Amino acid sequence: MATATEDLLTQARTFIPGGVNSATRSIGSPTGFRTAKGSRLVDFDGREYVDYHAAFGAILLGHSDDRVNEAVTRSLGDLDLVGLGVTELEIEVARLTAELIPSVEMSITTMSGTEATMQAVRLSRAVTGRKYLLKFQGCFHGWHDAVARNVASSAEKAYTRDPLSAGILDDALDSTLVAEFNDLDSVKELFAAYPDQIAAVILEPVPHNVGALLPDQAFLEGLRELTTAEGSLLIFDEVITGFRHAPGGYQELCGITPDLTSYGKAMGNGFPVAGMGGRADLMSRFSSAGGDVVLAGTFNGNPVSMAAAIETMSVITDPDVGFHAHTARLGQRMRDGLTEITERRGITATVTGLGSVFICYFMDGEIKGYRDLLRNDDTAYATFHRRMTDAGFVMYPMTLKRNHVSGAHTDDDIDRTLEAADTVLAGMQ
Ligand code: PLP
Repeated sequence: MATATEDLLTQARTFIPGGVNSATRSIGSPTGFRTAKGSRLVDFDGREYVDYHAAFGAILLGHSDDRVNEAVTRSLGDLDLVGLGVTELEIEVARLTAELIPSVEMSITTMSGTEATMQAVRLSRAVTGRKYLLKFQGCFHGWHDAVARNVASSAEKAYTRDPLSAGILDDALDSTLVAEFNDLDSVKELFAAYPDQIAAVILEPVPHNVGALLPDQAFLEGLRELTTAEGSLLIFDEVITGFRHAPGGYQELCGITPDLTSYGKAMGNGFPVAGMGGRADLMSRFSSAGGDVVLAGTFNGNPVSMAAAIETMSVITDPDVGFHAHTARLGQRMRDGLTEITERRGITATVTGLGSVFICYFMDGEIKGYRDLLRNDDTAYATFHRRMTDAGFVMYPMTLKRNHVSGAHTDDDIDRTLEAADTVLAGMQ
């Protein structure tokens, strides 16, 4: 007889393609969750997990954070979606964003990171009158046509034309050029091959979509100088790094100011909100300011998303909370602990990450660009993550996906996770 869980998952597969609403939510078969609070998830069977997946990093403070939930509830009492004019909540989000993110003078909100990077790319084409976008192998910027190629490509497909999806026009794919992260020469070669034709260079300043490729400061500085000299825009896609690594994103830490910045995910601690911003002269090209780049979106700036964003930004900047110090300390404990275990057990691994993010690659040697990640033992990686999840610690078993410590994780969570990791890795020797 089917259990209640099997019955629910069968219904999911019957009414939703593959049983999930985003393909990477299931590897093989879907799993169902009923509640989420703090650092914990509870599945359909009532089993509790410590969660390091954190909704791909959208959960920054912890699941169902009371402070954010209360701010959202308060906003519901006042107004819902208006669709005309502006609300005080939208003004406050734009004011806070400009205060926190160095490159942002003006900003717009969107409902997803995909829309945010789509707006940034379109704006860069309008401003420069140029066709090409330059991205990096391994970086993910959402699923719209201009960026949907060459993410976690296999060794055979890396650096070739590797679309994320069927149904994208060849011309859209071919209008996006692909370079190697941390390799300025590969960028210079493309600028030389397409003179005065590259509208923008877009990058995750720390490519977390392939774990944690740590950027060389000289590479980022070189991109800033090159794009300025070539009349192209520099777009930092801080959809993962934004708010997580510092209130102003990675640009606050590296001191390099892009022309445009996209952000999302952690901005609303799980409530749907994203946005992009930059210099006022660029942002004034949007049709809302009388320009010629369309700005539309029924749910943009809705009060629930705005209230969640304001509260999340206020919590992470509250010195009494010490969000970044707490998550960076626990992230470092996790990286140190996993390094100690893999070394003691003689497992070929490289543990890395930044702040709250940690990843254990199953490879050794230098990791500089995407090319190096092709040495990762994907099978060992997936095995480690799957066995950790089986042991009650959710780590997504997809190749090269990172893990996140949230504001709700505790030292005890880290102790228990490292203990479980020791057992799992012992079984992989
Ligand atoms: N940019 C980056 C760096 C991302 O990691 C993602 C999503 O994972 C996106 C953009 C797209 O964001 P969304 O899933 O909200 O559309």
